[in-house]
Amino acid sequence: MSAVPGVPSSGAGRARRRHLPVAAAPRDWRWQLRHATTTVAGLERALALSADERAGAVRAERAGLPLRVTPYYLGLVDPSDPRCPIRRQVVPHAAEALATPGDLADPLGEAAHEVAPGLVHRYPDRALLLATDQCAIYCRFCTRSRMVGGGVGALPGAALRGAVAWLGGHPEVRDVIVSGGDPLALGTDRLERLVAAVRAVPSVEVIRLATRVPVCLPMRVDRALVRALRPHHPLWVMTHFNHPKELTPEATRALALLVDGGFPVMNQTVLLAGVNDAAATLEALFRGLVRRRVRPYYLMQMDPVSGTGHLRTPLARGVALMEALQGRLSGIALPKLIVDTPGGMGKVPLGPDYVVARAPGRTRLRTHRGVEVEYLDPA
Ligand SMILES: *Cc1c(COP(=O)(O)O)cnc(C)c1O
Repeated sequence: MSAVPGVPSSGAGRARRRHLPVAAAPRDWRWQLRHATTTVAGLERALALSADERAGAVRAERAGLPLRVTPYYLGLVDPSDPRCPIRRQVVPHAAEALATPGDLADPLGEAAHEVAPGLVHRYPDRALLLATDQCAIYCRFCTRSRMVGGGVGALPGAALRGAVAWLGGHPEVRDVIVSGGDPLALGTDRLERLVAAVRAVPSVEVIRLATRVPVCLPMRVDRALVRALRPHHPLWVMTHFNHPKELTPEATRALALLVDGGFPVMNQTVLLAGVNDAAATLEALFRGLVRRRVRPYYLMQMDPVSGTGHLRTPLARGVALMEALQGRLSGIALPKLIVDTPGGMGKVPLGPDYVVARAPGRTRLRTHRGVEVEYLDPA
């Protein structure tokens, strides 16, 4: 038992009563979901909560974005330090009740861009399919806190047929991002049926699965899942690692199964105050991902979701971090810094400005070493 971090002994007792092999149980993803912490009392048993955390947890138990952490992910939390970067991602805080100017319930205007139930269309060649409202954990900075965890569950069959019919009528959409909620929170059969339905649309070239499961429930990535999904390639997996502490041996195993299974794996990190807004943290994370054959794809400025002001950084912070990393990190380890503009107007890449001066045919550039270089256009 002690080999599995964060599994409370009461959980092991419950597993024994179900006649499951005790040592194996926490390695079973369904066991992890059944034993997820969803109440203030459960959280108090595992961690010494600060007054602000307790107030946040009490609030989350009553309304809004629910409280939910898998025993596995809870095991990564420092039980005595409220500043722990893992803890800040999943333990609610009293500041979730505060409103910040500019906050929105639906910062990306997804409801307004819904073209069929569960299908969001904001870019000409891409669409986003919300497969379920369930996740293995509820991240306190969730962009879709307005709708996840409501207990609706998987997208109903009729809605899926509607989404697939819309895709069939829009051959310009070649890339479908399956998100939610977390699509990997669905059972393998159900997920495979959903992916097969999307794959059956001839104009869909690429399907992406956007999931935090390799981070918070890595045992869910097993050979059966890979076997079920492989026939539907090209399938890309978009993971969501935010901190190097999340790159555990279990997560490493999950990523290896995916990459070996032929899934290109990309990572989207959300920039979070007090979690990963330091160059050394991001450097360790991006290097760790590349070592595991995962490409850091986006570093995302946090969306202005209601009740997340305490987790957001100013825009200039992300730009300064990118500047610190540029030149120090291999190009394959450097993600793009992205701001998803409020109102669903689309993503904008941001970065340090390396252009010092412009004249016709002549541009003065600053390199990462601080050297200024003149570049001449062809005549
Ligand atoms: C972010 C997003 C995409 C995908 O954007 P990429 O830049 O291609 O990764 C597609 N649709 C919606 C609605 C999105 O929010």
